[in-house]
Amino acid sequence: MTITSLPISSLINKLKNKEITAREVIENYAKNINEKEKNIKSFINLDIEKALKRAGELDKMDEKKGLLFGVPVAVKDNMNVKNCETTAGSQILKGYISPYNATVVKKLKEENAIIIGKTNMDEFAMGSSNENSSFFPTHNPVNYDYVPGGSSGGSAASVKSEEVLAALGSDTGGSVREPAAFCGVVGLKPTYGLVSRYGLIAFSSSLDQIGPLTRNVKDCAIMLNAIAGFDPHDETSANIKKEDYTNLLGKEIKGKRIGIIKEVMEFNIQDEIKEELKKTINTLVKLGATITEISIAHLKYALPAYYIVAPSEASSNLSRFDGVRYGLTVQGKNLTSTYELTRTEGFGEEVKRRILIGTFALSAGYYDAYYLKASKVRKILANEFEKAFETVDTLLLPTTATTAFKLGEKKSPLEMYMSDIFTIPVNLAGLPAISVPHGSDKNGLPIGMQLIGSWFKEKELLQIAYAVENG
Ligand code: GLN
Repeated sequence: MTITSLPISSLINKLKNKEITAREVIENYAKNINEKEKNIKSFINLDIEKALKRAGELDKMDEKKGLLFGVPVAVKDNMNVKNCETTAGSQILKGYISPYNATVVKKLKEENAIIIGKTNMDEFAMGSSNENSSFFPTHNPVNYDYVPGGSSGGSAASVKSEEVLAALGSDTGGSVREPAAFCGVVGLKPTYGLVSRYGLIAFSSSLDQIGPLTRNVKDCAIMLNAIAGFDPHDETSANIKKEDYTNLLGKEIKGKRIGIIKEVMEFNIQDEIKEELKKTINTLVKLGATITEISIAHLKYALPAYYIVAPSEASSNLSRFDGVRYGLTVQGKNLTSTYELTRTEGFGEEVKRRILIGTFALSAGYYDAYYLKASKVRKILANEFEKAFETVDTLLLPTTATTAFKLGEKKSPLEMYMSDIFTIPVNLAGLPAISVPHGSDKNGLPIGMQLIGSWFKEKELLQIAYAVENG
């Protein structure tokens, strides 16, 4: 095994036993970055020098402590890292330097992880392919002609290509799980409120959640241990007791009740993905789980409801980018024209589309017809999931209906929106869900299986995910 292919716990053991130094770890990862980054383009900002300096400091420490001691990580560029540029993939934030650390970043640092850089993303996390980044698209490490998924495509690509060992992404409608599936890595969207959003640039505040992208389920659990927990800076942070998410990994899953959602099968799913789903079911049955078919009758309304709720909240959240407070300013002849010129130049096409949809949906006379109705659909969906979790422990479905598509292939925004049909319902209900790599299609492109757990049941969810991963 090379240094860059070691999982988190083995790497830390080697560091603690002084078999390797943190500096060597960073040098090895830097070598990969030098070789691969020109083709993949995972990063908007990279700081190897700073990472090497931090590694040197860690090497001098007598006590090698921290859940992520010496682990090279990447952070999606919508999370604040103190004194670093944070762009959220947008020209409007070009040159904006964060004056503070997001809570997740603070936690990574406290656990002695080494931050290598900020990863590329669809502008303000709006997209499913990274093609909406205002800088450049990221390429899928498995095949450069294909997208890595989005919006956390840079994070997924950096983990897959061994440019880092683990990364953080954010998931509003699938942005951790979909790129995880497309690149062949593990991606977790935690229960809404489990991980602090303080210092995350808000897209749709009632849906956004930060989650880890890793090469295996155990690393995912370790990352979650590092970043989960109550934060008084985030009003939606859940005050629940700390858990060890690695606790149940490898424990037998005999008697676990797995649900298959009937309505999922009504969608057009790529044959190879259906095959992998069958194989996953067989594995779980062999391990002693029971399979039940359940119904989430309103599943097909999740996408339309999401495209009212998310743009509405985005239109409000993005009003703070006015050319006065952050990043880009295009000076006009008065204040209004400064706003107009800055936002016209600073925002990309998809972001403008969402602001228009959201502003329309929230405008007087339309609120009841759109936002209120979408909120009701959301509640119905959450109720349906709640009912499902009375009879099953975990739901199993594909993460996506297709494997990765080619760069430039999706021509219309609606086509792109369809990429998230199986991930969006989870965010609307605030549930935890994980994508685990499971096989590949005839072109060698990875397939992801998705598991959905009940609220705050990450430990049990990871237990099943581990079983799916290790068969
Ligand atoms: N692809 C979805 C969108 O464009 C979800 C994005 C996300 O989860 N951030 O809104």
